[in-house]
Amino acid sequence: MKLYLYNTMTRRKEEFAPLFPDYVGLYTCGPTVYNHAHIGNLRTYIFEDVLKRVLRFNGYTVRHVMNITDVGHLTGDRDMGEDKLERGAQREGRSAWEIAEMYTRAFQEDMDRLNLLPPDIWCRATDTIPEQIALIRTLEEKGYTYATGDGIYFDTSRFENYTKLSHQNLEALQEGARVERNPEKRNPTDFALWKFSPRDEKRQMEWPSPWGVGFPGWHIECSAMSMKFLGDHLDIHCGGTDHIDVHHTNEIAQSEAATGKPFFRFWMHGAFLNIAGGKKMAKSAGNFLTIQYSLVDRGIDPLAYRYAAFQTHYRNPMEYSDEATQAAQNGLLHLKNQVRHIMDACSPGDAAAMPAAADESRGRFLEALNDDLNMPRAMAVVQDVLKSEMTPAWKLETVLAFDQVLGFDLDRVGAAASLPADIQEKVTARETARREKNWALSDELRDELQALGYVVQDGKDGMKVFRQ
Ligand code: AMP
Ligand code: ZN
Repeated sequence: MKLYLYNTMTRRKEEFAPLFPDYVGLYTCGPTVYNHAHIGNLRTYIFEDVLKRVLRFNGYTVRHVMNITDVGHLTGDRDMGEDKLERGAQREGRSAWEIAEMYTRAFQEDMDRLNLLPPDIWCRATDTIPEQIALIRTLEEKGYTYATGDGIYFDTSRFENYTKLSHQNLEALQEGARVERNPEKRNPTDFALWKFSPRDEKRQMEWPSPWGVGFPGWHIECSAMSMKFLGDHLDIHCGGTDHIDVHHTNEIAQSEAATGKPFFRFWMHGAFLNIAGGKKMAKSAGNFLTIQYSLVDRGIDPLAYRYAAFQTHYRNPMEYSDEATQAAQNGLLHLKNQVRHIMDACSPGDAAAMPAAADESRGRFLEALNDDLNMPRAMAVVQDVLKSEMTPAWKLETVLAFDQVLGFDLDRVGAAASLPADIQEKVTARETARREKNWALSDELRDELQALGYVVQDGKDGMKVFRQ
């Protein structure tokens, strides 16, 4: 079945085919590690995780590179302001290197809690400084750069079709860029490839270069790292929509100027998570929610956030609210209970030849995924399977196959239930009581569960338990 993905470059869904037969080269812009990732950032990483799983589900081998931005990302996206890492170091009274290490680890833990598959290659910007310098030298040799008092800049007027990704007209982009105007820049959209360390201050992270001691610009890092690890094999590059106008636009300009070849074939962008009222969540605005604060500390399974993310298509904005998260938690618990029930109902010999219904459901699931990762539709197919006339064994087989993309750990709901042990014990006791038609005990156990914060619902496919 053909896979269609929305390409920001062409602004339409296009049939995906890898450039080379051996693997799909996927580059996802990684976190700037000066603080925890917020659940907005993580929404983008969930979308990218789904993309990777869908590519695999379609039979492709994926080579996934994710960078860690540990230097050069300034508080103003257009080369002004402080380095975020140095600012984080000041805030916490540690070195920039320690901050980077600490938040890289925190990010990897968050990935783990959300079942985000780790990339095949992690790379830190600070580990590829020589490659970045080499790329800037190439641009210099080709006449794309100029020096100012504070760094080496890329002259965007020399690159034809600079706005091909953003689709903005140049005047509008330049108007936006003028806000932080550096009078030495030739054009408002020009950007730093290398910045000099300030004369009166020793930076914690700085390197010698042919142009003077300093540090790389944020954009050159991603170009150098993607080319280092994916070579000419550049299939899909992702990030959040905020990267379209500046970061990815600049990556394209400098990479294509250096190589003379098209950079990535597909550009995919995840829409923002907003907090109620349509405000965007931003680390720099200090209004951000972490996995720990907004989920774990409230007794919510982080995978419920994954479930919540699947209720909205990745290209539509998603609104965060406590109610939506709670509803997702209930939805996930319900799904796990449904799977537990079919596990219990499976009997040997049940799984004879694949019924047409299972085959047809797989087809519909894949069709939803391959229509630009339509997860709301894919989730509806999951429910159709659970409610279908298939045997429990086939329902299970089908749903567990879907879980390769869903990533809810549905294969683990059996013995080790996701409910705490004492709760599970009461649930089991109540199931026994009901089988034995001991209604008084059953009601008593229901009230006990209720008092402990678990709501019990009795339906025709058994008992369902939700956390309140
Ligand atoms: P950063 O750590 O700031 O470099 O951002 C990491 C990723 O999160 C990037 O792909 C951003 O585009 C993305 N991002 C930032 N804020 C949000 C948000 N509120 N919702 C969704 N994605 C976001
Ligand atoms: Zn990047």
